[in-house]
Amino acid sequence: MAVNEKAYHQIIQEFANSSVTLVAVSKLKPASDIEALYKLGQLDFGENYVQELVEKQAVLPANINWHFIGHLQSNKVKYIAPFVHLIHGIDSLKLLQEINKQALKNNRVIDCLLQVHIAKEETKFGMDAPELSAALEAAKHLPNVYIRGLMGMASFSDDQDVVASEFNYLHELFTTHHFNLQPTAVLSMGMSADYALAIKSGSTMVRIGSLLFGARQ
Ligand SMILES: *Cc1c(COP(=O)(O)O)cnc(C)c1O
Repeated sequence: MAVNEKAYHQIIQEFANSSVTLVAVSKLKPASDIEALYKLGQLDFGENYVQELVEKQAVLPANINWHFIGHLQSNKVKYIAPFVHLIHGIDSLKLLQEINKQALKNNRVIDCLLQVHIAKEETKFGMDAPELSAALEAAKHLPNVYIRGLMGMASFSDDQDVVASEFNYLHELFTTHHFNLQPTAVLSMGMSADYALAIKSGSTMVRIGSLLFGARQ
């Protein structure tokens, strides 16, 4: 249950001279763990489950930036639309349209990342390159969502070359679609096991859980 403060300080120091943002992934961890990191200055936290996020948001400080990084079902968008800071895992136009609708109801624009399928594994969610192009085109007609960039998860593999090539591919798509020309664009890739590789490949935002909060049940 104890937060690894040493690892936190190390990571913050590593990122000090770069423009990489750390999202602390707190899924399945108690609100007290989030508070411990918040007290050290961490403001960006990532959650995977809607109900858990809603419950934590209600009891934790209002200036926390809540990132939704899990697989989001359309019928649950409404619960997080009032406050969510950035939704990372958008993998269908239908979901994007629902986020646009709920954002409008809340009189706001919600920042979104489109998830690209880069891993070899079939189980990981995400769009392929043609689906990504189509979604970006369609998003131009959705005024209450702002596509801030892309997100991806590499294969769960010890082979660094495989992981690096997947990250490089995502970075290539990021460039192809000219996100790299926007100073506030986000390329969300890298987790506890592979964040250093991801940063080498151009990541601007890493999502780190177990390294900070310990293994999950
Ligand atoms: C759980 C999760 C993470 C964090 O994984 P760790 O290996 O614990 O750092 C990052 N991204 C997504 C999408 C996740 O679901």
